[in-house]
Amino acid sequence: MRYVSTRGEAPVLGFEDAILGGLARDGGLYLPEEWPTLSESEIAALAGLPYEEAAFRIMRPYLGDAFTDDEFRAILTRAYARFGHAAVCPVVQTGPNDWLLELHHGPTLAFKDVAMQLIGQLFEALLARRGQRVTIVGATSGDTGSAAIEAFRGLPSADVFILFPDGGRVSEVQRRQMTTPTEANVHAIAIDGNFDDCQGMLKAMFNDFAFRDEVGLAAVNSINWARVLAQVVYYFTAAVSLGAPHRPVSFSVPTGNFGDIFAGQVARHMGLPIDRLVIATNENDILHRTLQTGTYEKQGLRATISPSMDIQVSSNFERLLFELYGRDGAAVAAAMGELSAQGRFTLPQGALTTLREGFASARADEAAAKAAIRGTLERAGHVVCPHTACGIVAAAAERGDPAVPLVTLATAHAAKFPDAVEAACGVRPPLPSRMSDLYDREERMTRLPNDLAAVEAFVKEKRTV
Ligand SMILES: *Cc1c(COP(=O)(O)O)cnc(C)c1O
Repeated sequence: MRYVSTRGEAPVLGFEDAILGGLARDGGLYLPEEWPTLSESEIAALAGLPYEEAAFRIMRPYLGDAFTDDEFRAILTRAYARFGHAAVCPVVQTGPNDWLLELHHGPTLAFKDVAMQLIGQLFEALLARRGQRVTIVGATSGDTGSAAIEAFRGLPSADVFILFPDGGRVSEVQRRQMTTPTEANVHAIAIDGNFDDCQGMLKAMFNDFAFRDEVGLAAVNSINWARVLAQVVYYFTAAVSLGAPHRPVSFSVPTGNFGDIFAGQVARHMGLPIDRLVIATNENDILHRTLQTGTYEKQGLRATISPSMDIQVSSNFERLLFELYGRDGAAVAAAMGELSAQGRFTLPQGALTTLREGFASARADEAAAKAAIRGTLERAGHVVCPHTACGIVAAAAERGDPAVPLVTLATAHAAKFPDAVEAACGVRPPLPSRMSDLYDREERMTRLPNDLAAVEAFVKEKRTV
């Protein structure tokens, strides 16, 4: 299996280099050269398997010869050992044919653990074999940073540095998840700036090729192919548990950077009969507007009660564009150039039609999300997080055929956002018992100015060579 860049200029790579490198050197994102498929009987045979075994069968074709079957099975066992549910990603019923896919049973209570725990183990196995170390730097508005820290804490092959906005909109649970691990390879850095400053700095570090090569910089943000790949698995396990491949299933996905829902599209390419893929946005609705108008246009960032979906542009949308543009890297590069020069680009009519055939979308404002939190508690006895609530709003708006099971992805545990949830429904969700001492643990972080040189110097000094 070989991987190509969405902008067509970077070298074609194997699985190992595609995931260790992260962003392609032409600024694009890596994608497999072709989509492997599972036959109907292979999909049917996933029913009832342990999650790790289903994951093995779904991901195996993408790995080339990076691991033996035994090695990859051992990696998967380690990756999912820390989940608090025996099914890893269980499905629960909330209405006659409405379901929640609970993705929040990992160590940081958000769906990012499903991919990040695997990435940690994949990196460790590959790097140990090569005798290499990497420096992972990430920027976070909350969930990604804590998931990366939990995935890499204590692993011998990596140092992890996470930048987050000091006093920003990171919730207390999210901050404590980043600042309380005690391992020496973990560094939580509070930047005197906002999330855009943190992300800008991360980009600048990747563009500083001398620094990038000196410290062995690696990215585990949502553009890393292995993250998308790991998320493909739960679309299959959920759909099969509800009757696929013998009946189609629809999904509503709380969306920010488009990584999670793009994994659904990959499952479709692989042969899973998905009827609707509903893009659920909050007030940061660039994707919903794109489906409506055909123009992908950046607007100001709005702070919402679902902060992990607060984005101006969706980085993984570039992967879908590559498909919509018939895998024409030059066309994708031109669109991205237009986006950075003018803040917008318009999809050609053919691409827009294909987009609308593949996806539905809906935007959930704050009042609607809060009503969905209340309504889900009243109707189904479930307390959901504000991100999941956006998915529930979109699911109702774009229900489609009532005979098709509609699965909303529950992307975080309600206890990660206790204030917003309590304000919406009057119930303050408690942390699961396995992390109930989070508020008592000691915090450890470094405060740095919004200055590239200062951050680069800190990384160079603290990393263990
Ligand atoms: C990251 C995140 C999202 C958005 O996922 P994308 O892959 O960026 O679209 C939604 N909900 C929660 C809780 C998240 O942490």
